[in-house]
Amino acid sequence: TRPAIGIDIGGTKIAAGLVSGTGEVLHRLVTATPGHSEPEVEAAVVDLVRAFSRDAPGAPVGVGAAGWINPDTGTVLFSPHLAWRHEPLRDRLEERLGRGVTVTNDADAAGWAEWRFGAGRGEDQLVCLTLGTGIGGALVLDGALRRGRHGMAGEFGHQMLVPGGHRCECGNRGCWEQYASGNALGRDGRELARAHSPVAQTLLAAAGGQPEAIDGELVTRMALAGDPASRDLVAEAGEWLGIGLANLAASLDPGTFVIGGGLGSASPQLLETAEDSYRRHLTGRGYRPYARVVRARLGADAGLVGAADLARSEAR
Ligand code: BGC
Ligand code: ZN
Repeated sequence: TRPAIGIDIGGTKIAAGLVSGTGEVLHRLVTATPGHSEPEVEAAVVDLVRAFSRDAPGAPVGVGAAGWINPDTGTVLFSPHLAWRHEPLRDRLEERLGRGVTVTNDADAAGWAEWRFGAGRGEDQLVCLTLGTGIGGALVLDGALRRGRHGMAGEFGHQMLVPGGHRCECGNRGCWEQYASGNALGRDGRELARAHSPVAQTLLAAAGGQPEAIDGELVTRMALAGDPASRDLVAEAGEWLGIGLANLAASLDPGTFVIGGGLGSASPQLLETAEDSYRRHLTGRGYRPYARVVRARLGADAGLVGAADLARSEAR
């Protein structure tokens, strides 16, 4: 089967790739998500698609975007991490590119890719989580992506776990993604550093002495390097991650949770603590089977691979 172009628009970067029919990324390009204006983001996507079009003219184009998407119209109704509000993303892109475009939620695209080509293969009751800026979710049941009545199922990151807790970009307080995402790790790392605690010395030094320079990626990296304070922060996020998994298991009873995204792929410690926490919080534990908790296999490529594959199957 012919290759397709997949684009993954996240809160911090846009990843693009030319993807073969078997899910291999033949070429990839990454660019920072420009500013907070929709036309700039759309222009960046158009440039990326054009860059691949020389090698693969007429290839189907699939876009995964972080947000609530109407799959029938390709409109982004709302996005907590981007400026889109009722943005007719598909129409805008089709107009500028002069060809058909498929628009999907970024985490749905990633979950689809993991089911087709990655860690979710062969599992017909799959929940996939994408941990990055926020927490994205996908539900793949019996080989089909389940999007709900309005296309926005799987927004697991905005389950309210802590009423009155941290403010979320979605407007609510206490959403799961405020406790177990890259953003959450960064916020907690900065808070720790600003408290002038001696335990934060190593982390702060790694940030060049600037608390503002601490982000989720740095905390994750420092935890991997063995910094005790960073390991504590990751363990705390893992504890919350497991509580959310237990909640999802209570309502969905999946066979496997695949955990991916930049953060999920980068931190084995996060996954271990999450699985432990999941098992300690699962309702009916000890009397029921546990879902497998596994690391995603496609890493940072999952979103673009899934977007390309969905575009290919819709173009057929
Ligand atoms: C958004 C989701 C998105 C996820 C990962 C969440 O905050 O609500 O639509 O999939 O972040 O990017
Ligand atoms: Zn929220």
